[in-house]
Amino acid sequence: MTVNPLAPSWLDVPADANALAEAVWPRGAARTTDGELELAGVRAHELAARFGTPLYVVDEADARARAQEAHDAFTREFERRGGTATVYYAGKAFLSAEIARWVDAAGLHLDVCTGGELAVALAAGISPSRLGFHGNNKSLAEIDRAVSVGLGVIVIDSVQEIERVAEAAFRHGRTQRVRLRVNSGVHAQTHDYLATAREDQKFGIPLADVPGVVASIRAHSALDFLGLHSHIGSQIFETDGFAEAARRLLEVHRELLADGPVPELNLGGGFGIAYTSVDAPVPLSDIAASLADIVADECERLGIPLPAIAVEPGRAIIGPSGVTLYEVGTIKDVEVAQGGGTAIRKYVSVDGGMSDNVRSSLYGADYTVRIAGRVSDADAALVRVAGKHCESGDIVVHADYLPGDVSPGDLLAVPATGAYCWSLASNYNYVGRPPVVAVRDGEVRVIVRGETEADLLARDAGI
Ligand code: PLP
Repeated sequence: MTVNPLAPSWLDVPADANALAEAVWPRGAARTTDGELELAGVRAHELAARFGTPLYVVDEADARARAQEAHDAFTREFERRGGTATVYYAGKAFLSAEIARWVDAAGLHLDVCTGGELAVALAAGISPSRLGFHGNNKSLAEIDRAVSVGLGVIVIDSVQEIERVAEAAFRHGRTQRVRLRVNSGVHAQTHDYLATAREDQKFGIPLADVPGVVASIRAHSALDFLGLHSHIGSQIFETDGFAEAARRLLEVHRELLADGPVPELNLGGGFGIAYTSVDAPVPLSDIAASLADIVADECERLGIPLPAIAVEPGRAIIGPSGVTLYEVGTIKDVEVAQGGGTAIRKYVSVDGGMSDNVRSSLYGADYTVRIAGRVSDADAALVRVAGKHCESGDIVVHADYLPGDVSPGDLLAVPATGAYCWSLASNYNYVGRPPVVAVRDGEVRVIVRGETEADLLARDAGI
């Protein structure tokens, strides 16, 4: 098949439009001998028949393994340089009680950023001492609850929060451990909205102001200052940004050591994953190794002790473990003007969309798609997978090639949807959020039930 001129330049016509690119699919994904997609030994059509579509499917063994690998890689690499590392799972990527327990069992701590996420973590039975609490505008009630349950660490994000956390700690008779989020000014190479350490944004304290702000924290006997925190953005493929942020933070870290202990440094998350076959993320073990060397070398150069390091990946742990199943409803071959002629874009509309995966429309994120229920040797056709919502920007997959005989009723699978899909899901157009099921060793169980029509109507005071 020739290249469709409407295809983005990065997208090649695949030799086999049924193939599952290894980096993009969970480790438990495979084709059965009759060509169907199975996830951890459970066939796609069986999942769809039992739970309906859209359906979020999480490969449990894959998620647990990634959590364990992150824990082991950072621990090993920082120990190699004579230090220690704590890995927090960034719950914003996808948090449910089950997932909180999986990451806990792998030895990870857990990072929450709202009272709601805190409530899930506590309900899951995670020890408050293993929780970190982020957020640029935590409410007084959120701060109060966090302090009262004995939260491991609160990340202070503004000058106002110093008094608020100190007051709550004083009231509860506690000493609250805190970090200070700084804006390192490092421009992460990623989508604009995901680059959280640019100067012109809402998170953190500018580096130049940090010594004064830390002095204010230290002036409160109810606060125990642990160190600085930086998160430079998400879906980052290069280690350069993390390295630069670490260097900038360590300069200030050294300055702070002159007036008291600074036992920790938190370098945040943001490690990228493969969404399409052309994405080539750096393996977490390599990131851990290079961060350990950068931080340890820099500490040697500055003549300071290596602080205890913390990192907080979310997407890299849960993103690749998730797959969303959809059913095709309608198909349109749309003739699009292109280079003096026209080309056909096949719009394949599915029964979900921006309510279950808003990343494509919010960030222009790219995904890939495969027919889940069968393989086909029909010529590959360029498709755009659209949702069912009343927005022309309601796109799930901007561009991929599928067998050209894709038809209404086909089951489609979109991989790498474990992170920031369910957690960003909405009820737009009064569509219920789909259930989440975990698959493992041929077994399937619901870890979050789907919303029913009754759920959708329940809060309408006029009904
Ligand atoms: N830490 C902080 C403070 C964040 O804001 C985020 C994501 O926005 C993360 C960690 C996790 O990022 P990722 O899921 O890309 O690893």
